[in-house]
Amino acid sequence: MRITFPHLGSSHIAVEAFLRGLGHEPITPPPTSRRTLELGAFHSPAEVCLPFKIVLGNMLEGIEQGADCVLMIGGWGPCRLGYYGEIQRLLLQALGQQVQFITLEVPRGNYGKYWTHFRQLTAVTRPGDLVRGARLSWAKLNALEELETLALQSRPVEKQRGLTTQYLEGSLRRLQQAESVQEIESVLSWARLGFSDLRDPAKPSPLRVGLVGEIYTVVEAFCNLRLEERLGHLGVEVVRTISLAEWVTNHIFKKAVGLFSLAPLRRLAAGYLTGFIGGHGLESVARSVALARQNLDGIVHILPLSCMPEVVARGILPRVSRDHQVPVLSLVVDEHTGECGFQTRLEAFVDLVRRRVEHLGPRGQARLPGR
Ligand code: SF4
Repeated sequence: MRITFPHLGSSHIAVEAFLRGLGHEPITPPPTSRRTLELGAFHSPAEVCLPFKIVLGNMLEGIEQGADCVLMIGGWGPCRLGYYGEIQRLLLQALGQQVQFITLEVPRGNYGKYWTHFRQLTAVTRPGDLVRGARLSWAKLNALEELETLALQSRPVEKQRGLTTQYLEGSLRRLQQAESVQEIESVLSWARLGFSDLRDPAKPSPLRVGLVGEIYTVVEAFCNLRLEERLGHLGVEVVRTISLAEWVTNHIFKKAVGLFSLAPLRRLAAGYLTGFIGGHGLESVARSVALARQNLDGIVHILPLSCMPEVVARGILPRVSRDHQVPVLSLVVDEHTGECGFQTRLEAFVDLVRRRVEHLGPRGQARLPGR
């Protein structure tokens, strides 16, 4: 099958490897752009959240490139992700698109149904190829997250503005072309040295700001107006709290064998939120508390307009900010968000955080596990 799928940050690099391993031809949509959003928004119900519109735009652009199948992930819980796939399938049908639509759900006890969907993808696959493809895809997913983290650390202290982004793009292209785990390792080894060469040792230590929020908006640079890059250029090292590899481990592997528990997040969010509210709402609150305890200089919370779980988190974060004496900025994005206003808010926030650090001294030596 010629399979297209929505973008989610740089995850297409891992998805392509996975689909090739299954014997399919991946049709990666063009990078998300204004056209993608306009196309998706034009065919979407007006009140749905921004990720729905962009994802639909990706699907339509993938079909334009010749895909005959669309792959989408499903979900469950109080937020709207659970019915995204079905509505998008119906919308594509109504637009006369003759494509197969496969929604991969996060298993929730209904393993038979999950297996039926997965079989649609693996029908022509030899077990050895499946294992090789999955291994390569997993290695690429972990590698691309490491590359992006290296870029976040190097950007605020780079020798020349833009070098890090350029180097990251080149490294991701090499990763995309890698055909074995050994090649991936060599891309990573080069990149570790390459990113450290980009740093200017004379530059002052960067501020460290944690990033929390709705997963799609955090990970997809078009949706968050290249937030991480903007902060990096303002001298801020962004500390991500969302990892796609961690999400897959928790929600697919650990859940499948009953090892996933929300208890650690509930403990962190105690006193603010008692349980799961859909999407990443609980994570946003819990991880903000964790970031404050790790003495980060500030927290940026990003959410799409009308995202129910994050609207709840947004109502709670000012209290986290007061209790833990950490500045928090909540940014709401939709298709009408203007770059100038967005940039001004970031500059004002970074200015506030910087003055606060200068006035009060650093909140402490921010140290994260494994750093
Ligand atoms: S978490 Fe928010 S943005 Fe994401 S699907 Fe649910 S409501 Fe929409």
